[in-house]
Amino acid sequence: MMLMNNKEKLRKAGLRPTKQRMIIANILLNGINRHFTAENLQNEINSSGNSMSIATIYNCLKKFRNCGLIKQVESSKETAIFDTNIDQHHHFLDEETGELIDIENEEINLFKLPEIPKGYMNSGVEVLIKLKRQN
Ligand SMILES: [Zn+2]
Repeated sequence: MMLMNNKEKLRKAGLRPTKQRMIIANILLNGINRHFTAENLQNEINSSGNSMSIATIYNCLKKFRNCGLIKQVESSKETAIFDTNIDQHHHFLDEETGELIDIENEEINLFKLPEIPKGYMNSGVEVLIKLKRQN
């Protein structure tokens, strides 16, 4: 398999590799699975000597998400959480810290699903198991 550089990854996803997208791609598309918010990313961008407004970062992340380069995690948190692991998988959520832990798809067995409403198809099921510390 040929390894693609980040510029090629963006092009293949249908995105023009602008300077800002490349800065974000170089942080996110390095093969390491992680969960992050736009604010997390902004801190990293700043500490790498670049700067970008939170609005620009959100725009980029939405584009990345829409092109399938990253995922957005459904969570009960107000802040959007993004995920570089784009394989089908599930999560534990530490409700106190907001930390997400990946659960492999095979670890979850769904016995029963409701009938899909007319005109729709199932485009994926994501399970979020909320964790609370025992005293
Ligand atoms: Zn994940």
